[in-house]
Amino acid sequence: MSLNLVTLLYLVASVCFIQALKGLSHPTTSIRGNFFGMTGMTIAVVTTAALIIKLADGHMAGLAWVLLGLVAGGGYGAWRAKTVEMTKMPELVAFFHSMIGLAAVFIAVAAVAEPMAFGIVHSADEPIPAGNRLELFLGAAIGAITFSGSVIAFGKLSGTYKFRLFKGAPVVFAGQHMLNLVLGLTTVGLGLAFMATGSWTAFFAMLALSFVLGVLIIIPIGGADMPVVVSMLNSYSGWAAAGIGFSLNNSMLIIAGSLVGSSGAILSYIMCKAMNRAFINVILGGFGGDATAAVAGDTPQRTAKSGSSDDAAFILGNAESVIIVPGYGLAVARAQHAVKELAHKLTEKGVSVKYAIHPVAGRMPGHMNVLLAEAEVPYDQVFEMEDINAEFGQADVAIILGANDVVNPAALQKGSPIYGMPILEAYKAKTIIVNKRSMAAGYAGLDNELFYLDKTMMVFGDAKKVVEDMVKAIE
Ligand code: NDP
Repeated sequence: MSLNLVTLLYLVASVCFIQALKGLSHPTTSIRGNFFGMTGMTIAVVTTAALIIKLADGHMAGLAWVLLGLVAGGGYGAWRAKTVEMTKMPELVAFFHSMIGLAAVFIAVAAVAEPMAFGIVHSADEPIPAGNRLELFLGAAIGAITFSGSVIAFGKLSGTYKFRLFKGAPVVFAGQHMLNLVLGLTTVGLGLAFMATGSWTAFFAMLALSFVLGVLIIIPIGGADMPVVVSMLNSYSGWAAAGIGFSLNNSMLIIAGSLVGSSGAILSYIMCKAMNRAFINVILGGFGGDATAAVAGDTPQRTAKSGSSDDAAFILGNAESVIIVPGYGLAVARAQHAVKELAHKLTEKGVSVKYAIHPVAGRMPGHMNVLLAEAEVPYDQVFEMEDINAEFGQADVAIILGANDVVNPAALQKGSPIYGMPILEAYKAKTIIVNKRSMAAGYAGLDNELFYLDKTMMVFGDAKKVVEDMVKAIE
């Protein structure tokens, strides 16, 4: 395979990746986007494998390792992606980011140890050029931060580990930001020392500090800010790959890494906007700690009105317009098919039914869109927050299924930890039905005033069971 053909195929793969990003920007084109992504990745992997075979020049041992890596990594990735529950997807993404970060670190270490094997130098006593040292330093440092940061994000997202650093609540201590600043500057200083001298000591000290920094940057960030963290780490993993791509002189890695890096950064920005949080404020962390304390404190005991699934079905059946607000609990209960059935029954009775999607509902960007698409809910019934908020005031019923933070009017009150976060204005509907299992707080750890309004009826129980009962009652 000639190098010109390799470059051409990498170009085709890059165009496929750009088309994939374009397609993934809307539910109706997302299947096409995925197809382009898979095609681009297949072309990139096969071309790189062919290139390695050409460069291996008959050295079958090295080749066997590459094939083993492809089969083991590809097989594990395919199995995990097939079996993962939708609610566990953010953890899987964090796990994948950690692997990309670690791969960048391994490649950088190997390239510093054996620069000739990577084509960085042409003789054993030639020093690594300063430009390559800079790329290796950046790739290794960003890769290490991505790895350890993603491990912490994985633990915080899963919420099942007892280890303190894996708890959703922010871990903060006096002088934390100063410590991070000093460690950050020392890391840069060591990187520059490596650039100037090529010293292994400086390189490994820089790498060790980067691993520590990854942990320290993520631990003060509370669970409620994890969406931004996951997409930020996504961006880091892209830049780490791009940095390593320069060292390896691999245009595919540079282009794919830059696409991941910039799209992750843009997504972080969009999500910060969706939560009305400044990016720097998210990174500095601490969000959610006071909120949890406030809930646990001396809030007066109040009672909320509750009703049965039959009561809810009666109200829904007599409405003219209903807006369904899905949230994390709906995903946990896997109630999307039951909800589609409910909407279908209501539509048959002449009720206008719409779905309202908050940008950070659930546990990952687009979580609710994916869930509803799985149940084949028609796209023209699904509305983004900015398109539907004006309609809540006229809606007869807003039915909130397993959602909490995304409809919490606390976001409108100055001093609230989520003040300024745009919410779905369900509180404006004439009647509100809320389904959840208890009065427990949502992900941000805040009580929700909406549940205590006179026009609100709580229907307690697992979302799937409750919605199925509503369908039966309407029938
Ligand atoms: P929340 O996590 O705020 O609330 C979900 C509610 O669902 C809980 O109050 C819970 O109450 C209820 N619930 C849980 N299981 C069930 C069940 N089986 N049946 C019925 N109800 C159930 O969800 P939202 O979607 O409103 O908000 C998302 C939150 O997650 C935001 O704070 C967001 O910032 C954060 N986040 C978002 C990410 C994203 O990218 N979208 C990623 C990470 C975090 P109960 O226990 O009483 O049933």
